[in-house]
Amino acid sequence: MSTRTLVVAGHGMTGHRLVEEILTHDRHGHWRVVVLAEEPRPAYDRVALSTLLDGATPGTLTLPTRQVPDDRRPHLRLNAPLTGADPAARTVTCADGATFGYDALVLATGSRPFVPPVPGHDLPGCFVYRTVEDIAAIRAAAAPGRDAVVVGGGLLGLEAAGGLRLLGMRPHVVEHGPWLMSRQIDEGGGRVLARAVDRLGVGVHCATKLRALTAGPAGHVERAELSDGRVLDAALVVFAAGVRPRDELAAPLGLDRGERGGFLVDRWCRTGDEHIWAIGECAAVEGRCHGLAAPGFRMAETVARQLLGDSGEAFTGADASATLKLLGVEVAGFGDAHAHTPGAIEYVHDAPHTDTYAKVVLAADGRTLLGGVLAGDTTAYPLLRTLTGRHLTASPDTLLTTSAHGA
Ligand SMILES: Cc1cc2nc3c(=O)[nH]c(=O)nc-3n(C[C@H](O)[C@H](O)[C@H](O)COP(=O)(O)OP(=O)(O)OC[C@H]3O[C@@H](n4cnc5c(N)ncnc54)[C@H](O)[C@@H]3O)c2cc1C
Repeated sequence: MSTRTLVVAGHGMTGHRLVEEILTHDRHGHWRVVVLAEEPRPAYDRVALSTLLDGATPGTLTLPTRQVPDDRRPHLRLNAPLTGADPAARTVTCADGATFGYDALVLATGSRPFVPPVPGHDLPGCFVYRTVEDIAAIRAAAAPGRDAVVVGGGLLGLEAAGGLRLLGMRPHVVEHGPWLMSRQIDEGGGRVLARAVDRLGVGVHCATKLRALTAGPAGHVERAELSDGRVLDAALVVFAAGVRPRDELAAPLGLDRGERGGFLVDRWCRTGDEHIWAIGECAAVEGRCHGLAAPGFRMAETVARQLLGDSGEAFTGADASATLKLLGVEVAGFGDAHAHTPGAIEYVHDAPHTDTYAKVVLAADGRTLLGGVLAGDTTAYPLLRTLTGRHLTASPDTLLTTSAHGA
C-alpha cells in the first residue's frame, strides 16, 4: 500500500487523540500525518486548564505524544489555522499560505465560547475561558479584592468563579436557569450546591440574565446590569455561557451543517464527502454536538479504525457525566440525572443537616440504574457510574445510603 496523507485540522484534545491512535496502530507507516493547528502550542489538557490558576504551568498540561521514528513523526504546524480548501483537488490552505494535499481530512476544530451580544460585551475587562491565552489574560487583568461577574452558572462558569477566587476576586455567577448546573443536576442537588458556593463567598444570581455591561470613566467594564433590575459591580467579566461549534470551514469544503451548527456527520463521523470526517465538539453526529472530552475521544477512535482499514464500531455516544472541579464543592450528575426516561423512578436521600443529597434514577423495571445526582459527597460516583445501565442487585435504599455516606 502506498503512503497516503492524513491532514488533521485542529490539534486540540480530539485531534491529538486521533493522531496518537494512528501512530500507535499504523505499524507499517501507511499514513503520513500533517496537523494544522490554530493555537501557538501543541495539544494540551483543556479539561485541566483551570489548574493554571492553581500553580500549574502550560508545559505541565501538554498531552503526551508517542515516541516514533523520525520518518513517522507527524508534521505539526502551529499558528497555522486551515482557512481555505479545494475539495475537488483535495487540497487545503493555511492562514500562512501553505497548501497541503490530502487523501483523508479530519476536522477537529472544537468550539468557540458563546458571548451573548449584550451591550458592552466587548469592553476591556471582558474575557472568555477556553485557551491557555485566555487564562493568562484573566490572570493579568485580575483585581484582587474587587467584584467579578461570571456569565453562566454551568460547570465551566463555576470553574471560572473558582479560578477568580484563587486570584483574590469576589466572583458573582449569573445564571438564567432556575439553579446552578441545571443541565447536569436536579433541583435538590442544586440546593446543596448553591449553599456550598454561597459559603465560599461566591454570589449566586439564578433565574436572571445579563442585560448590559457598562464602562467606568476609563472605558473599562465596571457594572453588570441584570434583567431583574439588579446591578453588580464588575471589575472583570468572564463569559462561560456555552459554546458554539467551529464549523466555518463547512462552506469552503462544501459540507452540510447540523441544524444547530457543527459539521453534519453520520455515526462513523463521515461527512457527505467520502474523504472528510469530523470529530469532537465541531461534529454534529446525526445532528447532535457533544460538548465533553470523552465523546470526542470515542469519535477519534472510530475514525482512526476506519483510516486503518477496519470498519470498526460506529460512535454511539459516550460517558457524558461531569463533576465540578476547583471550587472544592462535590457534585456529580450522570446518566439520566433528570429522569427523562419514560417510566423512570427516582429515589432520593436528602440530608440538609449534613449538606448531602443523593438521587438514583431507576428504569420502570425498578432494577436498572439509569443515572443519578450526588451533591456534598461524591465518593460513590465512580461506582455508580460503572453500574449505570446495569441491573442492580442492591436495593435503591442501600444504594442511596451508600451514596450519601460514600462508597
Ligand atoms: C476550562 C474547561 C474545563 C473543561 N472541563 C471539562 C471536564 O471536566 N470534562 C470534560 O469532558 N470536558 C471538559 N471541558 C471540555 C473539553 O475541554 C472539550 O470537550 C474538548 O477539549 C473538546 O476537544 P476538541 O478537540 O473537540 O476541541 P478543542 O480541544 O477545543 O480543540 C480544537 C482545536 O482546533 C483549533 N482550531 C479551530 N479552528 C481551526 C482551524 N480552522 N484550523 C486549525 N485549527 C483550528 C482550536 O484552536 C483548538 O486548538 C472543559 C473545557 C474547558 C475550557
